[in-house]
Amino acid sequence: MNLKELYQEIILDHGKNPRNLRKTDNFNKDAKGYNPLCGDKVHVYLKLNENKKVEDISFEGSGCAISMASASIMTDLVRGKEEIEVKEIVSDFLDMIKEKNELSNKILKDDEKTKLMCLSGVKKYPMRVKCATLSWHTLTSALENSQITINTEN
Ligand code: ZN
Repeated sequence: MNLKELYQEIILDHGKNPRNLRKTDNFNKDAKGYNPLCGDKVHVYLKLNENKKVEDISFEGSGCAISMASASIMTDLVRGKEEIEVKEIVSDFLDMIKEKNELSNKILKDDEKTKLMCLSGVKKYPMRVKCATLSWHTLTSALENSQITINTEN
């Protein structure tokens, strides 16, 4: 199996069986996102504890395999991290998906980075980049408690 096939396999797996597709009990931060071009919808729920650590993160939503896989992988990788680390992971991911060739954060382990790199294939397709980044922008909005619904077209 080559790298491209491995990446596709992981995306298909997460797209078909999204992890953390539920609503967190007693969440204290949340935000919604919408990608009208594709119809992807996501609602991210976060529970930060008193040490600003992500005790739980989950999402509800529907959409294409890329948007679901991205939200699934994101929620898996962010759980247990501190808020400041989450922000670094988010900005590193967004840089990678837009311009850089690799991830540069020192927070994620190599196998975790591989899961994120699975999404790098969308780079060539601007429409798909919106699918892949929707849940990440929504997570940022949730952390900032901005109450703004993310719309990829605004
Ligand atoms: Zn989509």
